[in-house]
Amino acid sequence: MVLDLEDYSDIHRATLQTVMNHGTIEEERLCQIFKLVCEKFTQYQQNDEEAKRNLDRVVETINEKISRFDQTVIKHKYGLNEIEYYVFTSTAKTALAKLQNCFNEFELEYFKQMFTNIIINERLCIKPRDALNLQSNLNGKVTKIRAEKLTDLWITTGYFYRNNDLIYLGPKSISEFAETIQNLGLDHIKKCSLCEDIAAWGITCNSCKTATFHKQCIQKFLARSEKCPSCKKEWTQSMEQ
Ligand SMILES: [Zn+2]
Ligand SMILES: [Zn+2]
Repeated sequence: MVLDLEDYSDIHRATLQTVMNHGTIEEERLCQIFKLVCEKFTQYQQNDEEAKRNLDRVVETINEKISRFDQTVIKHKYGLNEIEYYVFTSTAKTALAKLQNCFNEFELEYFKQMFTNIIINERLCIKPRDALNLQSNLNGKVTKIRAEKLTDLWITTGYFYRNNDLIYLGPKSISEFAETIQNLGLDHIKKCSLCEDIAAWGITCNSCKTATFHKQCIQKFLARSEKCPSCKKEWTQSMEQ
């Protein structure tokens, strides 16, 4: 049995559906579902490595299809936990419109306040209690119980990320609102000097103190060189920050 991924098929449809349903899904998890999907439609069995490669091909084809709707599936390595995610992403404009369709104006205001409070924090996070207290700015239009539910929902869909009892900016927000975030021009949000994407929780060079990198970008670079790609001085920064 061969796996034919040339044409847009049930495999593509099911994969896209899965990513859309989750909003944000770990690569490992999507890969396991993908294997089941392939087995179901073609009886094709594959190992994890093969499945990952095939999954990337399928996502590429999906993106050719959905780009005209301002949507893409982005593979995003999340700086906080170094886990690879697939994120169903719209352009910022479409993303906001989508949020507007799903939530009323007060719930949307709650989202914006949470987003703002997280983004202005150096570590890009907020304490759950502080997040919940933002609800009191909304004149009772969003109850505490609803605010808790919304927060959980936004964490599940990847807009936010809960870790060590803090709520962080999630992979979906970073992908979807990348431009908006960069346009804010906040000092603590740096671009990766190698790939130019937002380097949230990036690593800064010890010598020049200016060049910031994604951990995975600088690690790849340092496999070939011992110098900072920006200032060309010896790289002395530890990878654990
Ligand atoms: Zn990078
Ligand atoms: Zn440097």
